[in-house]
Amino acid sequence: MYDIAIIGAGINGCSVAYEFTQAGKKVLLLDMQKIAGGGSGAAGAFISPKFSKAGELKELLHDAFEYSMEYYNKHFPHLIKNAPLVHIAQNEADAQSLQIYKQKSSLELLTPPQHLLKSFTKEAQEKENVSINAGVVNAELMCLAMAKSADFKRHEVKNLLYEDGYWLIDELYAAKEVVLATGAYEKLINEPYIKLRGVWGHRIDVRTTTPNSHSLHQFVSISASDNGKIAIGATHDVNYHPQTSKEIYDIQKGRNELLEKASRTLKLDNIKIEKDYMGLRSGSFDYMPLVGKLVMSQETLQNSTINFKTKKPNFQAYDYHPHLSMINGSGGYGFVLAPYLAKILTEYILQGKAISDRISPARFFARYAKKL
Ligand SMILES: Cc1cc2nc3c(=O)[nH]c(=O)nc-3n(C[C@H](O)[C@H](O)[C@H](O)COP(=O)(O)OP(=O)(O)OC[C@H]3O[C@@H](n4cnc5c(N)ncnc54)[C@H](O)[C@@H]3O)c2cc1C
Repeated sequence: MYDIAIIGAGINGCSVAYEFTQAGKKVLLLDMQKIAGGGSGAAGAFISPKFSKAGELKELLHDAFEYSMEYYNKHFPHLIKNAPLVHIAQNEADAQSLQIYKQKSSLELLTPPQHLLKSFTKEAQEKENVSINAGVVNAELMCLAMAKSADFKRHEVKNLLYEDGYWLIDELYAAKEVVLATGAYEKLINEPYIKLRGVWGHRIDVRTTTPNSHSLHQFVSISASDNGKIAIGATHDVNYHPQTSKEIYDIQKGRNELLEKASRTLKLDNIKIEKDYMGLRSGSFDYMPLVGKLVMSQETLQNSTINFKTKKPNFQAYDYHPHLSMINGSGGYGFVLAPYLAKILTEYILQGKAISDRISPARFFARYAKKL
């Protein structure tokens, strides 16, 4: 019997596995692919805040960015490369947001060196920019390091059954607690209010003779060069899904898009593409992640004492699946959010600490029930 079974070994599942193994728990980590075989293996994985003027996602990402930079540097210093980042506005509206961001930001703002600015295209030189200390994580090795003390099994989970006080997984494994960290793949629990959209992304590693000392974010992200190697990512394709699309993904089209967008920031000479990475990001419909326990919709809807039409729903009145939670919907910021969200989820499971309504999956049940 495991203390906890985590389904999905991307950065979210691996971060939760790390928290629980560190707390001395017996952890089962299941994935139908290898560790970091989903969206996480494709990620850049740039650790940066959201450079917008306001909003709750910006606030969450600011806190997560500060937490995760310290966390990766403390626990896995060999797997994070600290590199200054220059974020360049794409257009006028973006430039105005950046100006407000700079006025309000509590992060230390850097002045990009002149030689770097001179290496930009004319279009990029003329745009507003902001520079901070940031980092880039080795995506696959980070997931592997976090999962090291968990019991990993390659297995596609089809069925979850709660019986006699524990979860039975495909009649093979038993655990007291289950966490779903399944990304944008098909749903395991059939709850109609949980809706996630998969956004397909493509990034490439290239060799180039152009030196680059900073991470650059504009139309795409360009990493600092490491012995002549640069990572460029990523595309955003809401139409392609590896589990449901009939057509084959057009790799050449993705490469062309990445190189064209990168060339609008920096002229890269003698490019040779070394490797392609592709995967699905999983986004929620209000862009905030989903972390916490799961409402049992059928049972809750039958509760005649609950007013589902209210503007201020009381999440505590809902019925929840016992010992079942999820961590998902990190969009393009999975590596920024995961350590921070895993801490929140672990504190909830082990200590009963409340999770904010703004990231609780129950918010989507409240909207669903109101519409019925
Ligand atoms: C090209 C690209 C570039 C990106 N760049 C960045 C970046 O620079 N910075 C950043 O922070 N984020 C970036 N992201 C986003 C980041 O990768 C995601 O937010 C993150 O990977 C989400 O992690 P996850 O663990 O939720 O999902 P995933 O990594 O997709 O993991 C889910 C896992 O669940 C498994 N699974 C699903 N269903 C089952 C089942 N029934 N049984 C067993 N296993 C199952 C899947 O096999 C998969 O391995 C990028 C994403 C892409 C695609």
